[in-house]
Amino acid sequence: MATATSTPTTQSDRLHSYNPATGQSIGSVPIQTQAEVDAIVARARVASIAWSQRSFAARREELAAFRRAIAAHADALAELIHRENGKPEIEALTEVMMALSHIAHAGACAETALATHKVSSGVLANFRATVSYHALGVIGVIGPWNYPLFTPMGSISYALAAGNAVVWKPSELTPLVAVEVARIAAATFALPDLLQVVTGAGATGAALARSAVDKVAFTGSAATGKRVMMAAAERLTPVLLELGGKDPMIVAADADIAKAAEACVFGALTNAGQACISVERVYVEDKVYDRFVEEVVAQVRELKIGGDDGHLGPMTSPAQIAIVRDHLDDAVAKGAKVLTGGSAAISGAYIQPTVLTNVDHRMKVMTDETFGPVIPIARVASLDEAIRLANDTTFGLGSSVFGGKGVRGIAAKLRSGMTAINSVMAFSGIPSLPFGGIGDSGFGRIHGDEGIREFTRVKATAEQSFSLPINMMSFRQPADAVTKMRGMIKQLYGDGVVAKAGDLYRKLRG
Ligand code: NAD
Repeated sequence: MATATSTPTTQSDRLHSYNPATGQSIGSVPIQTQAEVDAIVARARVASIAWSQRSFAARREELAAFRRAIAAHADALAELIHRENGKPEIEALTEVMMALSHIAHAGACAETALATHKVSSGVLANFRATVSYHALGVIGVIGPWNYPLFTPMGSISYALAAGNAVVWKPSELTPLVAVEVARIAAATFALPDLLQVVTGAGATGAALARSAVDKVAFTGSAATGKRVMMAAAERLTPVLLELGGKDPMIVAADADIAKAAEACVFGALTNAGQACISVERVYVEDKVYDRFVEEVVAQVRELKIGGDDGHLGPMTSPAQIAIVRDHLDDAVAKGAKVLTGGSAAISGAYIQPTVLTNVDHRMKVMTDETFGPVIPIARVASLDEAIRLANDTTFGLGSSVFGGKGVRGIAAKLRSGMTAINSVMAFSGIPSLPFGGIGDSGFGRIHGDEGIREFTRVKATAEQSFSLPINMMSFRQPADAVTKMRGMIKQLYGDGVVAKAGDLYRKLRG
């Protein structure tokens, strides 16, 4: 197994991307400066104006062509994701498929999600009130390395469908996937500057956050998210933050234990645990705890680590290996029991899937994002205790619950942006469901109608349809205006009187 040597290094003015399984460089990209980023954003601005003026149907057609082009390159893109990120081929292909589902959904649903609609005009009953949505202009998308295509596409496709141009800064660990997607985009869209990529490390990301973009959609760690927000604050640029998580899973005594264990093993270990919505901690009711742990351990022992067809690949980022090791050592020092894997079994870039028991909230592995192949399982005396512990976190991204009767009630009590019932992570694969978190997991939503509207400005229009005797937008009032106004207040908002605005205006009209 290879040693972890995939730290990006800069040689002259280029950034190298390394295969985490071998430590070999697989390509390099330029490190772009503030001036270069600004020039690219200016070109995107020109493209955004033309793109926003196209009809929904025209944009839908171009997004469909883009989707087909990405699908035609699915194998090559998956191969690049596999080599650059380290995930097994099947997971890389799944990632491409999920990215495609979002491009398809965003293109198909934008017109409905952004349709101008009438709303109640309330006390101003002589007005026609409408809400409309308009493209913001240029969206800066800053992406992570763990899902280098799927995650940014969750912002990019929705931003494009809403009529914006996009400038995308991929992670310095996985820039080649983005460069390839930008090449496909330039060859597909009639406007070659509609989706552009800027490359470099954090400084290039900061340059994009400081540039003249109209919104920044950031996915990454909470620490970097705060820096992005501060940089964007210079121009009061709005931000969307998709940050980390510490997703809990609850297993009730009446759950199907084999299925719950199978989902837990996948949810915690897919992409070697490097998913923002990984199952990061598990709470199991006392009655089924031993059986669940036994089942999880048995399934973990079946997994193949490494190789193109392995279940788990290498860790993408060497820095993350140190974090996982620290969490494991901290847990063991505080009394956790290691049933599989463990800190001593870490070899180069590979971490053996690790099942821990005897865990509690004094341990980092139960409170901080581990982002590695670790399954800490806690025994709970009741579902109330499980819910209390699941909500005992500063994060609030995803969550999952397995059980029979009452499972929806448990799900409703979980304080998170998303919950999967008798499954894990499923909400991320349903493009019509909004994706995002609360607390340290960030704010704003991608995917779904909310994810399309996230990349628009909302406009309120009030159109006067006819005049009333009292015009609140005028100094010219009839002599009895004060009396009429008092009457209105009483009728509309007074004790025990429920009057509809429509009835009132009929009365006032005479
Ligand atoms: P990271 O915060 O290190 O980097 C993310 C991106 O920010 C990279 O492109 C990086 O170059 C850029 N960046 C770094 N410094 C910057 C600065 N000062 N200004 C602007 N940009 C800067 O995150 P990561 O390690 O690449 O990704 C892992 C994290 O992402 C985990 O915490 C994970 O949970 C989270 N994540 C969240 C979601 C979600 O949707 N909520 C999805 C995937 C990953």
